[in-house]
Amino acid sequence: MDPIVILPGSFDPPTLGHLALARKALEIFPSLIVVCSLNPNKSGQWFTPNEAKGLWHSYDLPENLDVRTIDEFSASRPDPSRILMVRGLRSAADVEEEKRTMLYNHRFCGITRFLYIFNDEYVDVSSTKARTAARAGNAERLNRCVSPVVAAALLERAALHP
Ligand code: ADP
Repeated sequence: MDPIVILPGSFDPPTLGHLALARKALEIFPSLIVVCSLNPNKSGQWFTPNEAKGLWHSYDLPENLDVRTIDEFSASRPDPSRILMVRGLRSAADVEEEKRTMLYNHRFCGITRFLYIFNDEYVDVSSTKARTAARAGNAERLNRCVSPVVAAALLERAALHP
């Protein structure tokens, strides 16, 4: 049976690094579902899964990329044994956190198949760095991390998260 290939994450917000990761996954698989979720280890997310989904659509997305919230994805009652979960690694520094994420998804969601894609094209790009750049009002840094629409949303939110 074909796997259901997903790229889950908090995408708080989605960045150019996330987009590059999704594109790499689509070099391997015919389709991909990005699942916008809440990370149980991260509190105070700036964007809800539904807002993150909207922000994904500010990028030029491939046709075979579908973006859903975790609630929308769960409502389709996917068989965990069919799920293949894609995650990204920028450097060795990501490994420990990814191990925790893998164990959590194995224990609590019954997922057994994981694929890690290494991509150091955007090694210096992360949601955290984008939020920090927004707080500092650093437009140049923001534009290196995210789309103009996401940059505008971040600058608006930064006022609420000083
Ligand atoms: P989470 O909060 O669930 O860790 P993130 O939204 O932070 O989710 O990240 C989702 C995935 O994207 C993770 O596997 C992360 O390592 C990967 N990722 C984040 N930024 C980049 C980047 N610049 N290049 C490659 N992968 C990345």
